[in-house]
Amino acid sequence: MTAQILDGKAIAERLRAQYRDRASQLAARGHRPGLAVLLIGDNPASQVYVRNKVAACEAAGIHSENILLPADTPQAQVIARIEALNQDPGIHGILVQLPLPPHLDEARVLATVAAAKDVDGFHIENVGALAQGSPRFVPCTPKGVMVLLEETGIALRGQEAVVVGRSNIVGKPMGRLLLGADATVTVCHSRTRDLAFHTRRADILVAAIGRPNAITADMVKPGAVVIDVGINRLPTGKLCGDVDFAGVREVAAWITPVPGGVGPMTIAMLLANTLEAAGNAQVA
Ligand code: NDP
Repeated sequence: MTAQILDGKAIAERLRAQYRDRASQLAARGHRPGLAVLLIGDNPASQVYVRNKVAACEAAGIHSENILLPADTPQAQVIARIEALNQDPGIHGILVQLPLPPHLDEARVLATVAAAKDVDGFHIENVGALAQGSPRFVPCTPKGVMVLLEETGIALRGQEAVVVGRSNIVGKPMGRLLLGADATVTVCHSRTRDLAFHTRRADILVAAIGRPNAITADMVKPGAVVIDVGINRLPTGKLCGDVDFAGVREVAAWITPVPGGVGPMTIAMLLANTLEAAGNAQVA
């Protein structure tokens, strides 16, 4: 079997055209959606991510403010800046680019973002809402994975779903979303005793590990849907995922490429969350 490719790039482009329409409807009613992206320090990867997010906003007709602060900005100043954005009626979404410089308390900084503007879904209130099964803002990457899974047309109810990785950004919210869709969910991590035992049972396998080619063909159930969240840069400069694409595509029914799979969906979901925040502000 050769897997069908889940083309995140094409799906994201289709969604982004819809979001452009939604943004112009809101703007026509005097509510142009606005996103503030806060980048503290000069991490080169973060700079690229922020640039991509800002460009995607502009292309969708979403106003974006790119706020760059020096790496040694004191925590009080970062917090004051976020509090000002919380009060700004032209800003509906606030994103603090992670990782933060080590002197900043990540939990404290993220908790400062108003839950109603937390388009990354990292605020404890939004995390709690998802954990309780009544999600509000959902982290963009796992939300994008759910859209990709929907594209396969496969009903998730009762499926064995295995998530490899338990970060707050990807693995944990991914597990919660799959559980909410009535899948039977296993979340694996670096202390999991026999990873392949679990992955081989998966009808739906999501890899969010950060290790090139960690999932090989012998670890995948024939006919599975394999979603590769990983983005790893090889010494050659080439990007690759956590899944051995060439091998696994001969076993799986569906597979996402890297690049061009989950990555574009993450950005599309940021736009979706920003539009949702702007829509909520309009009716509030
Ligand atoms: P983290 O480093 O925060 O988490 C990695 C997880 O993988 C941890 O839970 C860790 O376990 C687990 N892990 C590590 N080694 C193994 C192993 N050998 N076997 C099983 N589990 C293991 O990473 P993120 O969740 O932030 O990101 C994961 C990957 O996804 C990265 O490549 C990142 O670049 C990419 N990413 C891609 C995005 C996109 O838009 N496509 C967005 C966000 C991330 P433990 O908890 O025990 O340490």
